[in-house]
Amino acid sequence: MKKAVLILFVIFFTIAGCRKETSGSGNNGSPANENSSPANETKIYYICTGNSATKYHRKSDCIGLNNCSKDIIPTTDVSGREKCNICF
Ligand SMILES: [Zn+2]
Repeated sequence: MKKAVLILFVIFFTIAGCRKETSGSGNNGSPANENSSPANETKIYYICTGNSATKYHRKSDCIGLNNCSKDIIPTTDVSGREKCNICF
C-alpha cells in the first residue's frame, strides 16, 4: 500500500512539473517578446494609401483607418504625414 502511494506521488509531481514548464514558457515567453522587440527596433507605423489620407498610425486597427478607401500598409517612412490624434 505504501509503495502504491509513493508511486502516485512520483507520477503526480512528474506531471505537475511538466505542466509548469510547458505553460510557463509558452505563456510568458512569446507575448513578452512581441511587446519588447518592436519598441527597441525601428518603429513601424501604418498608413492608408488612399489620396485623402494624411496621417500615420501606431495600430493597424486604429479607428482612424476605418475610412481608408485603399490599402493599409505598414511602413517606417511617414515623412509628410501627421500623427493620428486617436492612436498617439
Ligand atoms: Zn490612428
